[in-house]
Amino acid sequence: MLERNPSYVSGPSHVDYIVGLEDARKVTVTFDGLVRDGVKVIRAGVTGVRPGEARVLTPQGFVEYSVLVLATGLVPAEHEVRNLLENRRLSPHAWTWAGTVELRRAVEAFGGGTFVISVPPPPYKCPPGPYEVACLVQEYWQKKGVRAEVVVLDASDRPQPPLLADLWRRVLQERGIVYRPSFKVVELDPTTRTLISDRGERQRFDLASVIPPQRAPLFVEEAGLGTPFVPIDPATFRSRTQENVYAMGDVAASPYTKSAFTAFLQGRNAAYHIARALGRDRGEPDPVFNQCWPYVSSKEALLVEVAWDKEGRAIPGRNRTGPPSAAHVQARKSWEYGILRAAYG
Ligand SMILES: Cc1cc2nc3c(=O)[nH]c(=O)nc-3n(C[C@H](O)[C@H](O)[C@H](O)COP(=O)(O)OP(=O)(O)OC[C@H]3O[C@@H](n4cnc5c(N)ncnc54)[C@H](O)[C@@H]3O)c2cc1C
Repeated sequence: MLERNPSYVSGPSHVDYIVGLEDARKVTVTFDGLVRDGVKVIRAGVTGVRPGEARVLTPQGFVEYSVLVLATGLVPAEHEVRNLLENRRLSPHAWTWAGTVELRRAVEAFGGGTFVISVPPPPYKCPPGPYEVACLVQEYWQKKGVRAEVVVLDASDRPQPPLLADLWRRVLQERGIVYRPSFKVVELDPTTRTLISDRGERQRFDLASVIPPQRAPLFVEEAGLGTPFVPIDPATFRSRTQENVYAMGDVAASPYTKSAFTAFLQGRNAAYHIARALGRDRGEPDPVFNQCWPYVSSKEALLVEVAWDKEGRAIPGRNRTGPPSAAHVQARKSWEYGILRAAYG
């Protein structure tokens, strides 16, 4: 396993961390458990793939493969929003860990005014995440006595995922959070502190959190493995273009939600199919499904469940949503701690 970082911070807890609901140390893992299980972990940032030569490139040299598994996650494409890269300080976001730490500092230091969070066009990771952040920071400032107007700008015409659209609209309205649908942010004007949409609409801010559009890392695209994501057969996770390449999780173009919940199951299922391709049949894994418990406050969360068949076709009859409840917060935290233990030991 080629991994560029010495440790990993669990994605779902990014939102908790912004408002101090989680201790980062509790949701940070190392790869020592994998090493104990016999996995050779090489600390290296991958810079390229040469599918023709079956090689992965790193600054320290290349690694040859029989089977390549791409599980790099995705990257926020900051450069797709004009002036965003140069003005990160005005607009930190929680879709990277470094950004999460910056956003927490900015939220703590916020003295009042208008906070604007913008939702990118799907697919992006954790569809309910932006609305959770809006609800949590609003509650945080309210408790602190900071006068803040919270505005959500959404590239979509309704809150995501679509199954939760009505529940989100109600929750946002109850909390007095302004929701502006079909507002795709394409530019940040730092002098007037304004976000501008592709249709020229404008929204002023004191603190912004523009979540950029998302895509596979550049080296994946440059290797010709897919853009903006890696097309795969959702039944086997095999690349549509390269026989011996598999992709799963956020980097894959698949019907599955870009979430930690499905990424874990996708990884497990891909392992079955890779074993089969290598001549070791381990049977048929259960299809992928998704469960998510989005916060509406520090005390309550919603529920959304989505299921697919083993070919990756949605099974609408198995979809389920649930209203705000404290039990959902408990379910969320025990799932997250459990999955970290299961994946990293
Ligand atoms: C704010 C927020 C809230 C979220 N909330 C939830 C939630 O409530 N429930 C849920 O299920 N999911 C949630 N998610 C989504 C979840 O975190 C991701 O969907 C999930 O982590 C995807 O897993 P992955 O393995 O595909 O990618 P990642 O978790 O991004 O892992 C990719 C790994 O690859 C490594 N890597 C990347 N590039 C290279 C390279 N070039 N060389 C070497 N190593 C590399 C990275 O260091 C990392 O360890 C949330 C995410 C965010 C940002």
